[in-house]
Amino acid sequence: MTASPHHRVIIVGAGFSGIGMAIRLRQTGERDFIVLEREAGVGGTWRVNNYPGCACDVPSHLYSFSFAPNPTWTRMFAPQPEIRSYIEQCCERFGLAPHLQFNTTIASMTWDAGAARWQVQASDGRAWTCDALVLAVGGLSTPSYPAIAGLETFAGKTFHSQQWDHSYDLVGKRVAVIGTGASAIQFVPQIQPLVAQLDVYQRTPPWILPKPDRAITGREQRWFSKLPMLQQLYRGWIYSQLEARATFFVKAPAVMKLAGQLARNHIKRQLPNPTLQAKVTPNYTIGCKRVLISNDYYPALAQPNCELITDNIREIRPHSIVTADGRERAVDAIIFGTGFRASAPIAKGLVAGINGQDLVDAWPNGPEAYKGTTVRGFPNMFILMGPNTGLGHNSMLYMIESQITYVLGALAFLQRAGAHASIDVRAADQHAYNQALQTKANRTVWNQGGCQSWYLHPETGRNVTLWPDYTWAFRRLTKRFDPNAYQCTEQQASQRGPS
Ligand code: NAP
Repeated sequence: MTASPHHRVIIVGAGFSGIGMAIRLRQTGERDFIVLEREAGVGGTWRVNNYPGCACDVPSHLYSFSFAPNPTWTRMFAPQPEIRSYIEQCCERFGLAPHLQFNTTIASMTWDAGAARWQVQASDGRAWTCDALVLAVGGLSTPSYPAIAGLETFAGKTFHSQQWDHSYDLVGKRVAVIGTGASAIQFVPQIQPLVAQLDVYQRTPPWILPKPDRAITGREQRWFSKLPMLQQLYRGWIYSQLEARATFFVKAPAVMKLAGQLARNHIKRQLPNPTLQAKVTPNYTIGCKRVLISNDYYPALAQPNCELITDNIREIRPHSIVTADGRERAVDAIIFGTGFRASAPIAKGLVAGINGQDLVDAWPNGPEAYKGTTVRGFPNMFILMGPNTGLGHNSMLYMIESQITYVLGALAFLQRAGAHASIDVRAADQHAYNQALQTKANRTVWNQGGCQSWYLHPETGRNVTLWPDYTWAFRRLTKRFDPNAYQCTEQQASQRGPS
């Protein structure tokens, strides 16, 4: 039997976090790494989410790598194809091609304590080993479908926003959209003019603010190209504007009620109909769920071929949806804008650590990690966009880059410790970190705002997704790898076998 190829680092996932990690690794001079990706190309969420109207609600000059500025963003909020192409260009610019392996679905990742390395197995039988494993699989990659009676009996077309079927012609169809979150409010205005009838099923209304979007002129692009410093300043300005919001989200949630007035004004300006106004006005504090931005969602709801339905869905029949009031509405297609399984980002049976412990079993109260990155019992494993690194107010790229710096520090430490070393975060440090984090989380608008969101674990109610503080506080925390929080073990070379 031939030994599996061995690499110093394996990165799983080629979205923003995996690609960012790969670029920074190359910049440190490392060449012995591969990036394994399930899809046929890079981009992660910005590749698979390609529904009509898909765009980022964080300004592009900030929603991009600090080490790879793009002076030619065409809009303040870039559409999905442009973001995907930015990630592709980054791969080209930093010479990542030799490291990338697509169409590779990982079946298992198992810690081999004897050899102090990870064994990575793909579902097609290929296998690798590595000293360090970086999970860059994203927090929002597994679609969530509602458990509605009779759904399996539906005879028409169904798909999730993340798996948009572009071959299905919506023109002239009766379409139901279930869910009114960040994705739905982007695609509803796009499909409303095409369909014969659009039924939007809303369980909880989102708070929506005006979207300060506009085209970025050729002149501005030229200035950004000529004066990179100008773009940096602009980026910094956007960052500070967004970061200022953390004060209200995490420190003084009561103040958020005032921000709700801005959103109410937006509703009144865009929806003259008082019945519709009442239906779309939330009864929880703004910020508790992700604050959305849109200029075209409310106007789409007001169109004659669109109905906003707030009664619960009782059942789905082969050609219709029946609501709790007994009303039956015929539909040809159902589109699920029902989000993702954020509190269960990694499937059971995928990652096995010390003594074969499954990562999911290590999280009986929902995901938790030390500094959002390392988990006790899973040595030399690093999770990017891990537990409590998500944001409700700023760019995820800032958090990703902070984590990458931390992981690079850990990898440098491992190298200094010797080729056969492993590090495992101490249980006491992980516990203390998460206790302090949850104390902070309890004071935030996400816990106090009177809503149920995917930020909170559905069973324990703990915030397992969002960072409950300023992003610069996380950057400070991850600036340097802190070996004292880790147990370092050195394996005898003879136990390892050939490299
Ligand atoms: P989401 O925000 O979680 O929204 C899901 C929607 O489906 C909610 O309205 C939810 O209602 C509804 N829903 C879920 N289960 C349901 C059920 N059983 N019956 C009826 N309704 C149900 O999902 P998303 O819109 O896909 O967005 C997910 C996340 O992706 C966002 O929060 C954001 O972080 C990210 N995203 C970002 C952007 C961007 O521009 N950066 C764009 C899209 C998505 P309830 O509110 O009652 O649960």
